[in-house]
Amino acid sequence: MPTFDEILNNAGPLTLRQAQGSGTSLSKEEIKALLAAEGEDKKKLFDRALQVKLEHLDNYVHLRGLIEYSNICTKYCLYCGVRCKNLKVKRYQLSDEEVIECAKLAHELGYGSVALQSGERSDKAFVDKITYLVQEIKKIDNGSLGITLSLGEQTEETYRRWFEAGAHRYLLRIEASNEDLYYKIHPHDAKHDFKQRLTCIDSLLKIGYQTGTGVMVGLPFQTFDDLANDLLFFKQKDVAMVGMGPFIPHPDTPLWEYRDQIPSAEKRMELTLKMIAILRLMMPEINMVAATANQTVDPQGREKAILAGANVIMPNLTPNEFRENYLIYPDKACVKDKPDECHSCLDVRLAAIGHKVLYNAWGDSVAFTKKHQ
Ligand code: SAH
Repeated sequence: MPTFDEILNNAGPLTLRQAQGSGTSLSKEEIKALLAAEGEDKKKLFDRALQVKLEHLDNYVHLRGLIEYSNICTKYCLYCGVRCKNLKVKRYQLSDEEVIECAKLAHELGYGSVALQSGERSDKAFVDKITYLVQEIKKIDNGSLGITLSLGEQTEETYRRWFEAGAHRYLLRIEASNEDLYYKIHPHDAKHDFKQRLTCIDSLLKIGYQTGTGVMVGLPFQTFDDLANDLLFFKQKDVAMVGMGPFIPHPDTPLWEYRDQIPSAEKRMELTLKMIAILRLMMPEINMVAATANQTVDPQGREKAILAGANVIMPNLTPNEFRENYLIYPDKACVKDKPDECHSCLDVRLAAIGHKVLYNAWGDSVAFTKKHQ
């Protein structure tokens, strides 16, 4: 087993340049050693990840205006606050006009892309509605907005319809790549089938979406072995985008019961940052989001994620009156901010850490673009 410095040095920018952006192949044991880094070693890991990111992707941050379309959901994942069995949630669905207004605002603010996220439905009315909304968003300034969807598990035919309508990125986190762990955080039934989730990710890749996946970090029962395998899973699937954020227990969900058996919020945050940093070494040119969950756990969380190797931020554009009903986890950051307030605050916050927003661009994954040239 190489020393910590050897592992990190092998994962350095020079090696990456030679490998033309394909990144280093770290073994599971090496990943676990990096995950365990403390003190000076931890700092070295973050520094190296930032160096690699700057070398491959420069100091640009891409924005996706997040539209939380609806909290109506047919699933009951054990971690999620909007699970259908949580009867305390006031359910909503944005009107067509509200969605288009959000997308127009994203365009006016120069965001370049929107991300439409929702609780999970797969009925015909929903599928048709999304198809229509994607087509309408595409009409704004002749298709100038990139469209990411995050609408859960669907049939391959549905994914294809939405792709043909104009969506070109899709986020579907695997949540846990270890099947046993998956069933500790989801009910073990036909609606929450691990194999089906894998099939969905494969369909998205096959259709040609820039496909994003990811996991929650600091889940009950999750081990370093699981986390290392999650990173190897992203690499093996060769995804274009990854989103990882700390797990945040929600009082109206079954996993709340385990809140005392998980690492502290600070540790979950730190572990998330390490996951981002290590993945940046392994996959230098993918898009990685600084998830809102980071900011919920730590007011500086998004900036820390950017400095650990993330390059995408999803400012919330959902109209304020609906935001408090889209609480997948409690105390979500920015629930009270107005969309344009978020906006000015972001430029200042990023400048303070030597980064800048690349406005009016789709900000596609460089890894994906190179692969499909
Ligand atoms: N229904 C869509 C969107 C889900 S919300 C789908 O299934 O893809 C987006 C992400 O929020 C989820 O993939 C999950 O990883 C994360 N999330 C849900 N509940 C959470 C919690 N309690 N803490 C942290 N992240 C959570």
